[in-house]
Amino acid sequence: MPSQTPSQANLNEAAPPYPHLLAPLDLGFTRLRNRVLMGSMHTGLEDRAADFPKLAAYVAERAQGEVGLIVTGGFAPNLVGWLKPFGGKLSWPWEARPHRRVTQAAHAHGAKICLQLLHAGRYAYHPLSVAPSRLKAPINPFTPRALSARGVERQIDAYAHAARLARQAGYDGVEVMGSEGYLINQFTAARTNQRDDAWGGDAARRMRFAVEIVRRVREACGPDFIIIYRLSLVDLVEGGNAWPDIVAQARAVQAAGATLINSGIGWHEARVPTIVTSVPRAAFADVTAKLRGEVSVPVIATNRINMPQVAEDLLAAGKADMVSLARPLLADPHWVRKARTGDAARINTCIACNQACLDHVFQNKRASCLVNPRACAETELVYRRTERPRRIAVVGAGPAGLACATVAAERGHRVSLFEGGSEIGGQFNYAKRIPGKEEFHETLRYFRQRLDDTGVELHLDTLADVDTLKGFDAVVLATGITPRTVQMPGADHPKVVSYVDVLSGRVQVGARAALIGAGGIGFDVAEYLVEHGASPSTDPKRWMAQWGVDASFEAPGSLVAPKPEPPAREVWLLQRTPGRPGARLGKTSGWVHRATLKAKQVRMLGGVEYLGVDDEGLHIRVDESEQTLPVDHVVICAGQEPRRELFDLLQAQGITPHLIGGADVAAELDAKRAIDQASRLAAAL
Ligand code: FAD
Ligand code: NAP
Ligand code: SF4
Repeated sequence: MPSQTPSQANLNEAAPPYPHLLAPLDLGFTRLRNRVLMGSMHTGLEDRAADFPKLAAYVAERAQGEVGLIVTGGFAPNLVGWLKPFGGKLSWPWEARPHRRVTQAAHAHGAKICLQLLHAGRYAYHPLSVAPSRLKAPINPFTPRALSARGVERQIDAYAHAARLARQAGYDGVEVMGSEGYLINQFTAARTNQRDDAWGGDAARRMRFAVEIVRRVREACGPDFIIIYRLSLVDLVEGGNAWPDIVAQARAVQAAGATLINSGIGWHEARVPTIVTSVPRAAFADVTAKLRGEVSVPVIATNRINMPQVAEDLLAAGKADMVSLARPLLADPHWVRKARTGDAARINTCIACNQACLDHVFQNKRASCLVNPRACAETELVYRRTERPRRIAVVGAGPAGLACATVAAERGHRVSLFEGGSEIGGQFNYAKRIPGKEEFHETLRYFRQRLDDTGVELHLDTLADVDTLKGFDAVVLATGITPRTVQMPGADHPKVVSYVDVLSGRVQVGARAALIGAGGIGFDVAEYLVEHGASPSTDPKRWMAQWGVDASFEAPGSLVAPKPEPPAREVWLLQRTPGRPGARLGKTSGWVHRATLKAKQVRMLGGVEYLGVDDEGLHIRVDESEQTLPVDHVVICAGQEPRRELFDLLQAQGITPHLIGGADVAAELDAKRAIDQASRLAAAL
């Protein structure tokens, strides 16, 4: 049986900073160089053979970064299992051929690589979908066809056949996706399996599909092939499995030949967040720990493990044998190497925003990363050393200015960065104060370090003007935005304040507040105002109670009644556009913000006309009826205008500056666009 605990003998003599994380893992027939598994992430590069060179470059960079074991994005074992039409599939030899490039890329740099086999079942976004029973998923318009007994056998054969092809393509193993509400999970849970035959009925028959797949994959691929089984440890849906059924499933797949058990946390249709930034770090590691005592194969903890110390602590505490990181390795491909060399402060930390990764995938766009625009664009966005070093001035140390200055300096330019404020970060200094956005501190830490490393000359408390900027070879304006003011009677009343006044602490908001504007910032300010003291995101038990997660993980689906905490204030969140506020928030995170504010009894109104503010409060008209909101403060969160007064002044002096971030276009601005645009400009300077 493979060793599960890194023994003293495994530890480097030089006592590396994270001994448990960096200890090799002996699987008997093969050895992983450390305890980091790169979790499966669909990047959009898996769907067309023409994109495989890019996929290989993406894998190579993570392997160079010293990750131990890589799991690819999901590949369907047959056509009906496609996630979407023409998505990644592996059922024919010619589909296996381009994978060689990917497996070679991993092996060339010492990593092992497994292909994920993912059959979407009723989550398939096409009319050919199949499932154990004819039950439509709440998140998909297509109703699946119920599989016949022969159909079930065909699916199992497809898994075994695809695994054999994966082996031929050079993979070290496969991950059988048995969680997150996909086909196998649909078989194992009573919620979606209403059969009463050999494949459904009681828990033992429901899990038979999973066990047969593992058994036949093992049979097809031999004993020296890694089989990771991704087991749903918490379904987080009604009709989900209870703990004894989960343990029985784990033991049965282990007996059938699984090498490793990875943790699956929550179905895609669950109404409990599992990976967004407000989920506490390593919030679900305890359920992996609970399973670890029940099986003898190594188990893998997952979700919101984004820094080496978090991983080291849970491995040292014996909660798991490995950790799975997916998005953190998009954000920083060299995460493991930096941990090994004691450079954790240089890690570009995933802030769990989902904005450039999952949100892109849901929009059928290639994934990337808000903090690392090179992710999945490794062959296209290249920071080459310049042959013509120049003196460059960057004005504004918000995300755009920081990204531009550091990339330009890394390339060999001499860069001076001017910031009017006393610290770097621009609006991220407000974002980091929002409960659940604590991770934004990490981006600022990363940039502070990177400014040092790249030798950018930083001038804080320096409001740059035309004189400051004379004599440079190029000037980049990253001066950001000015908050928009709202014209209405009483706009100058002392009750009326800006979100900047609130988040900077200049104004203490009273017991009742109305927010004008329900965009990303309006929602964030509302969360700031309703929360008491410390953020629940720093306390997993408190966070679980609020979302109705059973912290003992015993209840079916691990669900119990939520216990929301009362709001710190009475808050109204308003917008002029008719309809429900928050419709334009991120696809994978917007619903979490809406649910959070609903639980805090925030009144969200659309179609509002602002009539004015006076001592009584805010007067509004909604659906042709007038009302007065008796509030102490009216907080303006009504969007932003570009701040670029310097642009014209510079042009008048014959200097044509580059404009990036909010200074360029403030509408629909977010940090993803700011950092991407800044990095691309710096790569071309
Ligand atoms: P800014 O961040 O505004 O930085 C501009 C900088 O320029 C400032 O530091 C300013 O002091 C400086 N400056 C201006 N003029 C001069 C001058 N003449 N000389 C020297 N310095 C000058 N975005 C997301 O993508 N995801 C989120 O979850 C998110 N949450 C947010 C939450 C809040 C509460 C807020 C306020 C914003 C949030 N944003 C979020 C938006 C994001 O912060 C902005 O899109 C991003 O900061 C824009 O970057 P920027 O560099 O263009 O401008
Ligand atoms: P925003 O998303 O554009 O929202 C501005 C809000 O103000 C809207 O609700 C708009 O709604 C209202 N508004 C606009 N003009 C107005 C006027 N003249 N009078 C009254 N109301 C007006 O901008 P934001 O909230 O300031 O956010 C800025 C950027 O930061 C956004 O683009 C966002 O992507 C980013 N951000 C993202 C997140 C995130 O979690 N991803 C969080 C925070 C910020 P009506 O026009 O309907 O009234
Ligand atoms: Fe992490 Fe956001 Fe980057 Fe996705 S886009 S990898 S969530 S930082």
